[in-house]
Amino acid sequence: MTLFRILALVLATTFMNTVLADNYSITQIQDNLYRYSSGTHHAVFVVTDGGIVLTDPISFEGASWLKQELKKRFKQPVRYVIYSHSHHDHVYGGQVFDEPGVTFISHEWARDDLLATRANTKIPNLVFNDELTLHLGNTQIDLRYHGPNNGKGNISINFPQHRVLHVVDWVVLGRMPYKNLPGYDIRGTINSTRDVLAMDFDLLVGGHAEMGNKDDIRAYLRYLEQLYKAVLEGMRAGKSLETLQQEIRFDDYSHLAMYEEWLPLNIEGVYNDLSNQSYLLLRPELPVND
Ligand SMILES: [Zn+2]
Repeated sequence: MTLFRILALVLATTFMNTVLADNYSITQIQDNLYRYSSGTHHAVFVVTDGGIVLTDPISFEGASWLKQELKKRFKQPVRYVIYSHSHHDHVYGGQVFDEPGVTFISHEWARDDLLATRANTKIPNLVFNDELTLHLGNTQIDLRYHGPNNGKGNISINFPQHRVLHVVDWVVLGRMPYKNLPGYDIRGTINSTRDVLAMDFDLLVGGHAEMGNKDDIRAYLRYLEQLYKAVLEGMRAGKSLETLQQEIRFDDYSHLAMYEEWLPLNIEGVYNDLSNQSYLLLRPELPVND
């Protein structure tokens, strides 16, 4: 290899490392609890005397970066990996942590979905139905299923000693819900969000966007409730999707990231959900679309 080629290779590798490191980060949330970010996706991990408990690996590349960082920063092995739900953009990369002594946990329907669709990640080997409590070192982690909301088997991950709750995709703070709400059960999302508001915690760490408190979650819930009601009432009055997209505004929420861009898509998402799940366009007693 010529000197030039070696130099070019070193430069390329340095550049790649910089790009990769820029895309990934670790933020301390509180004490031994951290947030791991890969692009616009977030997960959390807790470092205990008994080892590390990690939630979503997010991607193969992200998980590979995280594994190195954990090794560098902490003297503990990863013991548990908890998948928030079944979607690949959160749970791919699990195989990076697949070593003897590591247990992969998910809701049983998340496992079913990953298995049935032959997902390219480690398939969980410990599943639960309603609730599961994990104790490692002096840290307690409570996993809970709240019914359908986004994806299959989507759970909340609670750190009661830290008063921190981690929820992926069905509570989004500081940003509009994602585009036309793919994979969302809207009423289920509303119900699950009401459910977590009854839980005892101070800080919510989402799988996307900002961290926030219960007031932020209440504002998010109000947005979803108003969106759902406006689209439902409009459809019941026989209005078309295009009309609803022109008429419906929630300018109290215009400070949210992607408000202008995604409001028409959010309306479309609820419209499709009510059409597909509730057959609203087929109801014999309702007026035909305008
Ligand atoms: Zn997501």
